[in-house]
Amino acid sequence: MKTIIEPFRIKSVEPIYFNSKEERIEFLKEAFYNPFLIRSKNVLIDLLTDSGTSAMSSEQWAGIMRGDESYAGSPSFFHFEETVRQITGMKFIIPTHQGRASEKILFSILGGKGKYFISNTLFDTTRANIEYSGAEGIDLLCAEGKKPTIPAPFKGNMDTEALKNIIKEKGAANIPLCLITVTNNSGGGQPVSMQNIKDVKKICVENNIPLFIDACRFAENCYFIKLREKGYADKSVFEIAKELFSYADGCTMSAKKDAFANIGGFLAVQNEELAQLCRNLLIITEGFPTYGGLAGRDLEAIAIGLKEVVDEHYLQYRIRSIEYLSNKLIDAGIPVIQPAGGHAVYIDAKQFLAHIPVTQYPGQALVCALYEEGGVRGVEIGSLMFGKYAEAGGLIPAQMELVRLAIPRRTYTQSHIDYVAEIIIEVFENRKSIVGLAITEEAPMLRHFTAKLKPIN
Ligand SMILES: *Cc1c(COP(=O)(O)O)cnc(C)c1O
Repeated sequence: MKTIIEPFRIKSVEPIYFNSKEERIEFLKEAFYNPFLIRSKNVLIDLLTDSGTSAMSSEQWAGIMRGDESYAGSPSFFHFEETVRQITGMKFIIPTHQGRASEKILFSILGGKGKYFISNTLFDTTRANIEYSGAEGIDLLCAEGKKPTIPAPFKGNMDTEALKNIIKEKGAANIPLCLITVTNNSGGGQPVSMQNIKDVKKICVENNIPLFIDACRFAENCYFIKLREKGYADKSVFEIAKELFSYADGCTMSAKKDAFANIGGFLAVQNEELAQLCRNLLIITEGFPTYGGLAGRDLEAIAIGLKEVVDEHYLQYRIRSIEYLSNKLIDAGIPVIQPAGGHAVYIDAKQFLAHIPVTQYPGQALVCALYEEGGVRGVEIGSLMFGKYAEAGGLIPAQMELVRLAIPRRTYTQSHIDYVAEIIIEVFENRKSIVGLAITEEAPMLRHFTAKLKPIN
């Protein structure tokens, strides 16, 4: 097989600012060993997130110029609405400024005390919006999804037996909806199979519970279905997406992911009454229904991005570039979640830095080491992000200590990725010299964004 090339050429470039290891040691100190506090111009390869960091196409930039900024009834809205409807088949399409704004509106209406929302895995903003409403979020990930190093094709699937049991336990009337996240971001970017979505839908129908899709990475998920699920090899990703959404009663989406936009999102539903309630809230918090929280130009960029993302040459390159980095690390004996997900590589820091106890945040120590060695910025998904304190004091660690390297879409080339692999391998060879960290300051919620740390000597 020939090399899979980037399916684009580059018309406009942004410089990367080089710095020395000595400078990076200083920047890290100034950022209190928290890469969220490092200025991005001091980062060489930024793999903090794939959200809002995509490169837009020349067509999208042209759309930005064409964007019509009329307050009401803008043609840019109708372009956006028509495109979202073609893919999702939803009747009512509501633009929002990003994914979490859709969640806030949806769960303000359907949530509240005594309600339960069931998912394969809720993303952290989704869970936060559910809990903020007074309701509870329940993750029912399938068994294979919980085993990081054992490969399986659809590790994002929901456990359907557990779903049946939870419906019996909590009562269908207390479950306003089930929400399937595709791909499963918090669970390693792993895909969900069409069969699983159909099975969940069947259970939902039997119990009169609507099924929603958190569609941030729907195209990446549909491409995995095409590659891995029987009966889909000859279908287009567009057709697969249409089928996937045909089982849903609604969806939320962050356009900062699979729509290649720098901002934006939407909420789409089939039920008119629910749509009306959502629009009423939208007007208070986001804006008039034909622009939501967005400018007309953003609606154009999203509409064009949604058409581009189902292109299979793009998706082949996208999925392959994550796998390429993952394979290089596996070949060097570095522990990563397997198989590679759709948007990121996840390193198992507990194994990578086996000499650092979880109470000293091995994931964060690894994130710092990657920055120091090569200016590569990733993010800890472990006990700094999810750890809690026991009442008697002492850390209750997260289930896993991971470092996520999220790859922005269409932004880096193969040589950038080769460089990232070289840095990780170099850090791995010298891992014994890495020390753990202690927290010196932290916020009561979502502490990983602002926490300050220091090395333990
Ligand atoms: C990013 C993300 C969201 C939230 O979207 P924002 O645009 O960041 O508000 C929700 N769900 C998943 C799965 C995501 O990845």
